[in-house]
Amino acid sequence: MSLVILATCLNYLVIWFQNRQQSALLWMTAGSLISGLAFIVRLTWPGLDGIIFAHPAVLTGLGCVWMGCRSAAGQRPWLPGLPIASAIWLLLACIPGFFEIPSARYAAAYLLAAPLLLLSVSALWPSPIPKRAGRRFVSALLIVIAALCLIWGLLQCVSMVHPIGIGVDLIAVPVSAFAIMGFYLVLSFAFVALLKEQSEWAHGRAAFKDALTGLPNRRHLDESLTRSTGAARRDRRPIAVIMVDVDQFKAYNDRYGHPAGDACLRIVAGCLRDSLPHDLAEVMRYGGEEFTAIIRDTDEIEAMTLAERMRDSVAAAQIPHDGGLVGFVSISLGVAVMAPPYDQTGGIVDGTSLLAAADRALYRAKETGRNRSALFTAADAPDATSLNGRTRISPGLA
Ligand code: GH3
Ligand code: MG
Ligand code: MG
Repeated sequence: MSLVILATCLNYLVIWFQNRQQSALLWMTAGSLISGLAFIVRLTWPGLDGIIFAHPAVLTGLGCVWMGCRSAAGQRPWLPGLPIASAIWLLLACIPGFFEIPSARYAAAYLLAAPLLLLSVSALWPSPIPKRAGRRFVSALLIVIAALCLIWGLLQCVSMVHPIGIGVDLIAVPVSAFAIMGFYLVLSFAFVALLKEQSEWAHGRAAFKDALTGLPNRRHLDESLTRSTGAARRDRRPIAVIMVDVDQFKAYNDRYGHPAGDACLRIVAGCLRDSLPHDLAEVMRYGGEEFTAIIRDTDEIEAMTLAERMRDSVAAAQIPHDGGLVGFVSISLGVAVMAPPYDQTGGIVDGTSLLAAADRALYRAKETGRNRSALFTAADAPDATSLNGRTRISPGLA
């Protein structure tokens, strides 16, 4: 049994040494150690001393499992929850006659263990950990063991009133010791798999997120653009892309410094994100001081309205910019829409051409004075000879 405890703890600790921020592993190690110790003491001192130590210790071990699951799910361990089950068992032990009836001791322990196991599952369930094999396996294992504890606890209760031939002798101490250690061993492998899935998932998410603004990054944009324009074409619905560029941002950096420039980009990112409907739109950092919004089910008029809303939102933030156009940070926006029939919209037929169209419209917004929105039309297509009068420009302030 010592070997099983050693293997379980080693499994957790080796992974913990690789990633010391993962405190869930320490909780699980503590759970295995305390439970293992409980049975070693119980087998060494079969008398009352062993019993009074073993039952609360096993329950405390399961309390550690609960804290480990909370910690894996990104919740704070709730320390008062750790000794609750063992404290209840010890309180029950104060009832005269409790110790003399082995079924009562077991019933109390099993019926207290079941909620701890279910609380562990409930901690994992709504968490952001992806529902992959490791998490499913840990949850299933905890639910099955909780169910067995519940059934066994209830049978022990029944056997106290009506002897039904299922006594404590069926689960002699060494048998339950090996059963519990087996549970901890299997749990350790499944739990490590769960943490591995979780860290891969977190790394995957970080790879698609811009560290400065917290918005999705260019990599996400490329994927999202292909996916959403493909879906729009399939459903024959319009889709808009808005390219945003902060005006005279080099001058901002030169005047206020790069840290202030970073802070400014964060504010602008927040304004852009908050000014669009979250169910339809996604704002991403294209790179540098440029952002891109993809807005589903949106025609040209709606897209221009939203672009103006974004511009107003940044203007309302009133970020001082002495070297800027209007004394505050402003943005220019290029708007393009892909709508059926696709051959009549200036060659906008997919995500790449939609983005390029928005970029050309942005170029027009810059060229015609900045701090404004420009809508791409067919005349802006690469083969168009003239843009005059064909790119609609918002009034702007300049
Ligand atoms: P325009 O109005 O034509 O867009 O002029 P601009 O100065 O905004 O454009 P330009 O391309 O000349 O300069 C962009 C500047 O954005 C240069 C670069 O230092 C700055 N920049 C890009 N990314 C970051 C960033 O992450 N943080 C900071 N602080 N500055 C950045
Ligand atoms: Mg730029
Ligand atoms: Mg710029």
